[in-house]
Amino acid sequence: MNEKNCIFCKIISRTSPATIVAENEHVIAIKDISPKAPVHLLIIPKKHIVDVQSLLPEDNVYAAAILQMARQLSAMETGRRDCKLIINNGVGAGQLVFHLHCHFLSGKKIVEV
Ligand code: AMP
Ligand code: ZN
Repeated sequence: MNEKNCIFCKIISRTSPATIVAENEHVIAIKDISPKAPVHLLIIPKKHIVDVQSLLPEDNVYAAAILQMARQLSAMETGRRDCKLIINNGVGAGQLVFHLHCHFLSGKKIVEV
């Protein structure tokens, strides 16, 4: 599923550039363009889901894939097993891109929630 004018859909379809660090059938992991920690990645489902509130029962595969990708990214970060996962849902929670994504933050300066 692809939404016009969605930056993350464009990255998934390779119509916009991004630094891709991992990918599988359900999710893509990219470097955040404006990092807030030494390691700041975004885990993005390959389906245009707006936010957690919009998840459908059939989207469970994407929800699970986000956490499994976080585990995989954590294992890739040798010596940096600790990580913080953040999902902003809605304008009031600071969401700027309305395609569900999970921030993966790691390194010595992990931001506080
Ligand atoms: P949020 O506030 O949770 O919607 O976060 C959106 C995040 O996407 C921010 O941390 C941005 O820096 C990041 N971002 C926006 N556009 C891009 C892009 N083209 N490539 C990588 N990260 C992006
Ligand atoms: Zn999208």
